[in-house]
Amino acid sequence: MQLLDGKVVSAHFKQEIAAEVAAIRTASGKIPHLVAILVGNDGASETYVANKVRSCQELGFQSTLLRFEPTITESELLDAVRRVNENPDMDGLIVQLPLPGHINPDRVMETIDPRKDVDGFHPINIGRMAKGLPAYVSATPQGCLMLLEYYGIETSGKHCVVLGRSQIVGLPMTILMQRNTYPGNCTVTVCHSKTKNLPQITRQADILVAALGRPGFVTADMVKEGVVVIDVGLERVPDASKKSGFALKGDVLFDEVAPKCSFITPVPGGVGLMTIVSLMKNTLQAARGK
Ligand code: NAP
Repeated sequence: MQLLDGKVVSAHFKQEIAAEVAAIRTASGKIPHLVAILVGNDGASETYVANKVRSCQELGFQSTLLRFEPTITESELLDAVRRVNENPDMDGLIVQLPLPGHINPDRVMETIDPRKDVDGFHPINIGRMAKGLPAYVSATPQGCLMLLEYYGIETSGKHCVVLGRSQIVGLPMTILMQRNTYPGNCTVTVCHSKTKNLPQITRQADILVAALGRPGFVTADMVKEGVVVIDVGLERVPDASKKSGFALKGDVLFDEVAPKCSFITPVPGGVGLMTIVSLMKNTLQAARGK
């Protein structure tokens, strides 16, 4: 078993991105600029946004964090998004999900200028990705592809089973893995909460992508020998032994599944680190597009 090591791969790509940011800065004085909108005080969202801002600093990007109270109205939030759209100094915009229940996330995503939609959630970017046209690809699935590519994992003709069909992970992953390119050319099966005989399907997977948000859901009896496992799941589970009071857990029961795998991502230290790199890559692309 070999780890798909997010620490190693993200460090590799971060170096490349930082060098490119420095080159753009030297050539034109331009500093790629990422804006993050955070609504409310959800602990996990705070951590994710703080990590993104820290990565911006580390790689030489400019970053702006716009914070709003959870009571902000939808129309006020849409106005904030439009102001970023109209600001030529701001290259990329992410709106951290989830949003409070009174705000429609689809309306927010559709208001982001697709040219600044570095999370790849706008329907135009999802549609362009599905057609194989240049697009901002949703950061987490793109991070998974970068891991497969870095380790040279063969995907053509393989059976890829994706657990979860969310707009931000499962659905784009399904589209990407069946595309006629590398990584891709898989036969893809997507499973969700209404899927029957799920373990029977996961046991057929050459590549298993777990994006459920159900800690420890995938057990050893659900995978075959030699499988490649990408664990996207990232949940906070109470853990009194940790200073924070919680541990981060994936959807895969790592200790019992890993011995059967040819490759597997750890949690933490796998897909999560790649998501941030992928976001930075998209922001760089947005800055270059000017
Ligand atoms: P989500 O929107 O809640 O979607 C979960 C999906 O899993 C849904 O399609 C749901 O099916 C399916 N599902 C849930 N329980 C199931 C079960 N028992 N059997 C079969 N299918 C089941 O979640 P998400 O946003 O995609 O996130 C999934 C996980 O990835 C979370 O742990 C999240 O924190 C993590 N994540 C990590 C990163 C990262 O950077 N590492 C980024 C994004 C997300 P239905 O559609 O039928 O409801």
